[in-house]
Amino acid sequence: MTDSDEGRETALPSGVSAYYASLARTRDPYTDPIAAQFVARDAECLSLPYETRDPIGDERYRVGARVIHHYRDRVLILANDRCATYCRHCFRRHFTAHSTGRITTAEIEEAAAYVAGHPECGEALISGGDPLMLPDEHLGRLLKALREARRDLILRLATRVPVVQPARVTTETAAMLGSYAPLWVVIHANHHREITPEFRRAVGLLVDNGMPVLNQAVLLRGVNDNADTLEALMRGLVQCRVKPYYLFQGDLASGTSHFRTTIDEGLALMAELRRRLTGIAVPTYAVDLPDGAGKVPLTEATVVRRESQWYVLRDLDGNEHRYPRE
Ligand SMILES: *Cc1c(COP(=O)(O)O)cnc(C)c1O
Repeated sequence: MTDSDEGRETALPSGVSAYYASLARTRDPYTDPIAAQFVARDAECLSLPYETRDPIGDERYRVGARVIHHYRDRVLILANDRCATYCRHCFRRHFTAHSTGRITTAEIEEAAAYVAGHPECGEALISGGDPLMLPDEHLGRLLKALREARRDLILRLATRVPVVQPARVTTETAAMLGSYAPLWVVIHANHHREITPEFRRAVGLLVDNGMPVLNQAVLLRGVNDNADTLEALMRGLVQCRVKPYYLFQGDLASGTSHFRTTIDEGLALMAELRRRLTGIAVPTYAVDLPDGAGKVPLTEATVVRRESQWYVLRDLDGNEHRYPRE
């Protein structure tokens, strides 16, 4: 980071696709859950003492120009710094749209060599920025290099394009991605108004081309911090054959405090979702611990205590029940 970057640590540019902007009923980020995700508010200038520019510790685990190896089994590749829409709650705002640009041929080779040399690592996550902002040919070269380096590698593409620019997912793109199986796609929808006919078509193409599709949502104050919205979102996703994977507690990224709920609010919402929804529609509520200490699920501990012959387990209403230890 240079001196001139110092004051810009929260300066994520604004940018929204025409399609995503059309989903907002007003441009008022204080009342519209779609506008809230792309219209910057003054509160972004506020940095709290415990907020940082790199809340999940990407830099600490960087092993190459674009390669981050935090968890033994998974390596993260930052393929591109551009997005079709810049989410105001972005946690990787120190990287996103800071002119790192597209992964180069040399960086593709470096990433492929890294996975070839680390057989203990079973999966490569391709993220950014948004990898689907690369032309098919460019993204295809990365996928081909990784697949040639490791036939057994699980590929995971993290993209918000199906939500913010679904027309980008063409039949050709879906067929190209499908040819690199096993390839999982993880999308990022936060509100049921993002589930449109265009979205349905895009994720339908991915699933029809053999890709399992998962969703990572972020719990956002004023966007989806109520049980009705989360229920409608999760139901809508499962209708589209998308499995709700994570619901993230807000990361401690500089300038995002106006989006965060408390963990107690999140736990109460999760208990309500468990009551209302089929198990396949319930995501794992999780948080990335500060300083790169890792992702952990957040639960109201189910195992309350151990007695000589019994586990004491807690149900959704907080009542205790005994289950034998043997
Ligand atoms: C979140 C994350 C992953 C993926 O974690 P999962 O729990 O497998 O979804 C991998 N690498 C990094 C650096 C991450 O931040």
